[in-house]
Amino acid sequence: MINETINSKLRAAQDNLADVELLQAAIGKQSITGSEANFVKHLQEVLAVTGLEPITGEFLPGRPNIWGQRKGSEPGPNLMFVGHTDTVNVQGWSEAWAGQTRENPFGAVEIDGEIWGRGACDLKAGICASLAALRLLDAANIKLRGQVSFAFIGDEESGEPGLGVSAGAKDLVQRVKQGEISTPDFAIYVEPTKLNVYTAQIGFFIADIKVTGKSAYFGTPEDGVDALKASHKILSALWQHEEELTSGPAHDFVGPSGILVTDIKGGGYIAVPGQCSLSVIRKLRPGEELDKAVAQFEEVVNSADLSDGISVEMEYPAGRDHPFGGSPVEIDPNHDAARLLAECVQQEHPSGGQIGGAPYWSEAPFLVNEIGCPTVYCAPGDISVAHTFNERVNVDEYLAAVRSFALFMVAYCGTETGNEE
Ligand SMILES: [Zn+2]
Repeated sequence: MINETINSKLRAAQDNLADVELLQAAIGKQSITGSEANFVKHLQEVLAVTGLEPITGEFLPGRPNIWGQRKGSEPGPNLMFVGHTDTVNVQGWSEAWAGQTRENPFGAVEIDGEIWGRGACDLKAGICASLAALRLLDAANIKLRGQVSFAFIGDEESGEPGLGVSAGAKDLVQRVKQGEISTPDFAIYVEPTKLNVYTAQIGFFIADIKVTGKSAYFGTPEDGVDALKASHKILSALWQHEEELTSGPAHDFVGPSGILVTDIKGGGYIAVPGQCSLSVIRKLRPGEELDKAVAQFEEVVNSADLSDGISVEMEYPAGRDHPFGGSPVEIDPNHDAARLLAECVQQEHPSGGQIGGAPYWSEAPFLVNEIGCPTVYCAPGDISVAHTFNERVNVDEYLAAVRSFALFMVAYCGTETGNEE
């Protein structure tokens, strides 16, 4: 499918040092959710230098998305790279590495073949690899027939109070629907996958449960209504629900559904506890619907045999593409473009290029469900170190990503002078 000439041309033309510097500069631009503009300003220069005409548009005051397109020689398929510009915060990072070279979370130092820093794998390596790939084609003098587009958006990460509701993704799909940004035919969302190709992802909802009874003096407990005892019953019902879910049907790539109780707070006085609150997160398999999963969950909570005087309120604070949470999504694992991408990766990074599923939620559902664009996750980096003070990305994997993306641009978009297939 990909001819050897292109492979060797790309390898010869790759400027490893420049590619690594591109990533280091990106990590150096702090962009914790809310301060995306700082990184977007930098991307504006990078996109312009790469011969794209970047456009920025605010999804909220002071918080821009950025996008750009390289037109091909003919109207052809439009390939889009999408990634979020924001990162989680850096609490605990400097303390963990005090006195060491990686103490600065934005220092982007290289240690034993890995670049360290907040955003290194989640997901500045993906953004930089996609841009470096286009630059590599230019250096190798390969001109594409189809279009390559880039859209880098904010507000993806949870963690900053009130933020992380996919305001950037909502703005992007709105602009695509309005024709301001041309509809992609296939998209790669550059969340870390160790360069595997994820055609599926889990969905989720978070629920906060508030259990209210009535506090009373410990000597006369009959005057109160015990919210902790009620919560105990709710917990038992939820853990039974968990067992049913985890022993139920499993998805080939992301396994069974599940529900996890993540927090509990209650009581506090030397008295009958009048209040208790619980938080849970529910994992959905592709094919499940959020509305149904929430209804099922509420039924479980309400089925707990609670005494009179107990009231239960439920809230869903983490709406994304759905008011209750984020939808699961999948495309055909044999989708032609997904297979072709996997093949391109295998040529440059034999340990990657496997079709799989994301054990995390990100913003592909916006693209798949709202603008009908088949989307996969594929990028260098390991999700297990994302959001931690161990965040880093392997340099060889990143450089292989640059070549893999470049190969895929050629394979998917075709070239001006002929067909590589
Ligand atoms: Zn991410």
